[in-house]
Amino acid sequence: MYNLEELYQEVIIDHNQRPRNFGKLDSANKTAEGYNPLCGDQITLYIEFNDTVIKEIKFYGSGCAISKASASLMTESISGKKKSEAMVIFNNFRNMITKTSESKFDPDILGDLEILKGVSNFPARIKCATLAWHTLKSMLDNNDQTVTTE
Ligand code: ZN
Repeated sequence: MYNLEELYQEVIIDHNQRPRNFGKLDSANKTAEGYNPLCGDQITLYIEFNDTVIKEIKFYGSGCAISKASASLMTESISGKKKSEAMVIFNNFRNMITKTSESKFDPDILGDLEILKGVSNFPARIKCATLAWHTLKSMLDNNDQTVTTE
């Protein structure tokens, strides 16, 4: 197990066992696949969005607890948001997780996503936590290729 704080660990386990927005979305106007070969995590994202707003998002796939919990938390965090807001959240999340020296993140923007902060102490797990986000970014950037974390 990971040495995360107990409460955070419980939330991650909960999201892994009962992922939110899990399944296919019939009304999606875009889908994208992501793959993390290091861990074997696979994800398919379904998004219904218009020019500015992400109306609904669902995900489907299999992977480790961190990848599933992160995808579940992501869908909750960006559903109903403007695309531009989603990108701000993505950047804050990436900064928190990768802990680069110049990185900055705003807990108010991240909300529940801060639960995953402990992942930054486990480099091998960072790609698990960011897989769903990189897949999302490629969709919003209009890139149709399968995303891989390699
Ligand atoms: Zn993983």
